[in-house]
Formats: sequence, C-alpha cells, structure tokens
Amino acid sequence: MHVVVLGAGLAGLSTAYELAKAGTRVTVVERDDFAGGMACSWQKGGYWLDHGPHRFHSRDEELVRHFYEVLDNEVVIRDRMSRIYMQGKFFDYPLKAMNVLKSLPPGLLVRACWDYAWIRSVQLFKKIPDDNFENWVLKRFGRTLYEMFFGTYTSKAWKMPCTEISADWASQRISQANLWDTIVKTLNPPREGEVRSLVSEFWYPADGGIGQLGRKYAQKVREMGGEVLLESPVERIEVEGGLAKRVVCRQKDGSELVLEPTEVVNTIPLQRLLETLRPAVGPEVKESISKLRHLGIVFVYLEVDQPSLSPDHWVYLPEKHLTIHRISEFKNFSDNSAPGDKTVVCCEITCNVGDEHWNLTLEEGAKIAERDLVTVGLLKHGISRGVDIHKLPYAYPVYDLTYKENLEVLKQAARKVKNLRTTGRQGLYRYNNMDHSIAMGRRTAKTLLKGSDSRADEVAAGQEYFG
Ligand SMILES: Cc1cc2nc3c(=O)[nH]c(=O)nc-3n(C[C@H](O)[C@H](O)[C@H](O)COP(=O)(O)OP(=O)(O)OC[C@H]3O[C@@H](n4cnc5c(N)ncnc54)[C@H](O)[C@@H]3O)c2cc1C
Repeated sequence: MHVVVLGAGLAGLSTAYELAKAGTRVTVVERDDFAGGMACSWQKGGYWLDHGPHRFHSRDEELVRHFYEVLDNEVVIRDRMSRIYMQGKFFDYPLKAMNVLKSLPPGLLVRACWDYAWIRSVQLFKKIPDDNFENWVLKRFGRTLYEMFFGTYTSKAWKMPCTEISADWASQRISQANLWDTIVKTLNPPREGEVRSLVSEFWYPADGGIGQLGRKYAQKVREMGGEVLLESPVERIEVEGGLAKRVVCRQKDGSELVLEPTEVVNTIPLQRLLETLRPAVGPEVKESISKLRHLGIVFVYLEVDQPSLSPDHWVYLPEKHLTIHRISEFKNFSDNSAPGDKTVVCCEITCNVGDEHWNLTLEEGAKIAERDLVTVGLLKHGISRGVDIHKLPYAYPVYDLTYKENLEVLKQAARKVKNLRTTGRQGLYRYNNMDHSIAMGRRTAKTLLKGSDSRADEVAAGQEYFG
C-alpha cells in the first residue's frame, strides 16, 4: 500500500506518523515550505511566534501520552488564564459567577438577573428554539449577559449577525450550559487531584512554540522511512473507474510530481480538494463549494519594551470600537518563546480575504494594534513596534445557517472516489481543535491499516464543549 497524504498540518502528519510507524509507505505533500499547518511556529526577532493562542488540551489520556511521545517528553503544563476585557475591566473567561457579580456595576447586575429570570419564565410558556447562536445564548444567559460577553464578541469576530450563525458553534465553544451552571461551577470548583479540567490546564512544547509538534512529527515520519514533501501543492487528482489514480503536484522548480497512490488521505480544504478532481465536479457541487466560506485572520506581532504585558495566555477584546479582537502573549505559554526582558504580543484581526484588513501591511497593522492596546490601557504609547504580520485565509469555517446542507453535498462528492478519505479541520470543514485533528488523523491511519472503520468522522462531531 502507498498512501499519499494531502497537507502537512497536524491531521496529515498524525496520519503519516501512524502509517510510517506500522511500516506502510507514505508520502505527505504540502503546499508550504514548513510542516505544521495552522499550528506552526516560526522565529522572528528572537521570539517563537504562533498563530494566536495554541494550547493543547484533551480529556483523552492516551492522546496526551501520544503528544508527549512525539515531543520526546519536552512538554510544559500551564494553568490556563484567559480573560475578557470590557468597559475598563477584566472578567475571567470562561465566566465565573463571583467574578461577574463583583465586577459588574450594580445597575447592570440587577438588569442581568432580571433578564435571566425573564427569559427563564418566558420559556415556561414558549420554548425558544436553538436555531441560531443568538437564541442559544439568550435563553441560557439572558439578554444583558448575551450582549456583554457573547453577542458583541461573536458578531465582531465573525463579521456577521449572531442570528445568522449556527447554534452548533455556541454549544461547542461556551463551556457553561447556562447562567445557573456558571454559578454552580463557581461555588463548586474542582478539587485538587480531580481530573484535569479542559478549561483549567493545558500542555505546550517546552521549546519551539506549538510548531515544535509539527516539526517533530515530520522529522519522525522521515526517520521511519516516510516522505514529507514541502513546497509541493496538489494541483490535480486524476480519477479513473471511481479511484484516484494519480496525484499531481507542482514542485518548486515548476515541474510536475506525479504520484500513483493506492489510497489518498486528504486534509486540505475540502472545497479546494474537490476543485482538483479530474473529471471536474458538476454544477451542483460547484455551487455548494461557492457557499462554504472561511473567515481569515491577520496576526500582528508587537514587541513590547517591558518584561510582560499581562499574566494571561490570551485576552478577548469584544468592544466594537477596537479593531483587534484577541491578544495572546507567548511568554506565558513557554519561557523559551520570548526570553529576556521584553515580550511579544500577538494581536488578531478577523477578516474576509481581500478586504481592507486582509491587505494591511506590517506598519499599518502595528499602528492599529498599538492604538487599540493603548485605548484599553494595556499598553503605553511608544514602547512597542511591529515585528511580523501573518495571514491565514482558512482560519475559521463559517457555520452559517445553511452550511450543513452545502457540506453534505461536498462530502457526497468526495465519497464517490473510493480510495479517498477526507479528514482534519479543513478536510471536514469542522471547527475543531488540534487534539481533534490528531485523533482524526490517527483514526484514519488505523482504518487503512486494519481495513475496518475507526470512525475518524465522529471526532468532534457532537455538541460537546471543545474549549
Ligand atoms: C487563531 C487560531 C487559534 C487556535 N487555537 C487553538 C488552541 O488553542 N487549541 C487547539 O487545540 N486548537 C487551536 N486551533 C485549531 C488548530 O490550529 C487546528 O485544529 C489544527 O491546526 C488543524 O490541523 P489540520 O491538519 O486539520 O489543518 P491545517 O493545519 O489547516 O492543515 C492543512 C494543511 O494543508 C496544506 N494545504 C492546503 N492546500 C494545499 C494544497 N493544495 N496542496 C498541499 N497542501 C495544501 C496547508 O498548507 C496545511 O499545512 C486554533 C486555530 C486558529 C486559527
């Protein structure tokens, strides 16, 4: 068996790792000149930079052991600290009832409690459907808290009204079931020694940023006899008799690389995969492809002339007068990411590819980031400078109200190629975390090795909280 894996993100690399470990011939082809995909890291100005906050966390102990194995045990454990900055105050995030009670102005607090009581009583008579993000949160937290903590941030980051965002996103990204649950969890925090909470702790490579994971995977795949070919984007897949017969990649020198796989594992964006198929997909599939959108992110990295900006791993900035929506500080993930008496802060701006923010230069982005951080009082004027800017076009799959139907059309089209499996965050158009992509990759490898379905598709498919 010769397996060709499309994409060297964590899903593709974990597939290749398990296959190579079992002695199977595997070739990974990657568009970029590095491995790791969105979870990559690079060095600039003496800092290790990631795409925003990338913390590894999982309830699956075997998966955590795998993380340690790939990283040769060079791992640090961190207590998560993340907050939301609103109206000049920090609130713990996920919300903690006591913290909200203490920090909210009394008038707002009374309004929040009244709204919550109101929405609960309304539901005694008329059930509010979970048909979009706004309704999902409103019925569980009331309007005041919805607007303060959930709605404003979400519509700002997603660049669309919350009524047009699927409720799936809320159930996977908000840890508390409702306001009452928030209060109960605050009053009964997990005791020491209890199972690690998804919210409270995470693992991170001791050195090299989160991208160390991808680099180690690639190194080990090669050591075990597999190939990881960088700068080799897939251009077309020739299908004959329902089977992918040839995968054709463009190499750096302009020549074509033609691979003849027994099996193909895809982890590149599903829309782009389908566009490479020859013969080409039909008009119905093309229409659904055009309707599945991604949100891009521009990451602006500021070096700051002080040892630390905040103790947080990341801070949400939901207020609409600010352009950036989240910051993260890599020093708090690992001392080795930003050694010395300066720090580096990553400022994120979501955008639609091609819009005014997408086209920002480092100088323009740094100006905006500094202005916003000075406005909220996190930074003094004149002590920061831009060190880098990075852009991710496929950062977030947009869960609008029709994404499921369009996605199904794409999945069915992919299923017609019998020796092709699609997985990972991009291959499934799924808003999942690193641990999920790794689990998907490993399960896909298992399916190929054992010949029976290891249900990679079921990873991160439910309504459970992802963190
Ligand atoms: C801002 C941000 C913060 C995040 N924070 C966290 C976090 O804290 N914790 C967490 O667990 N997860 C986090 N994630 C999610 C995490 O990054 C992803 O779940 C994971 O990296 C996805 O891996 P993947 O392999 O499925 O996809 P990708 O990493 O997207 O890999 C796909 C690969 O395919 C390649 N490719 C694309 N087109 C082609 C082509 N034509 N030919 C060849 N190769 C191609 C790409 O270059 C890429 O390497 C975050 C994501 C973002 C955007």
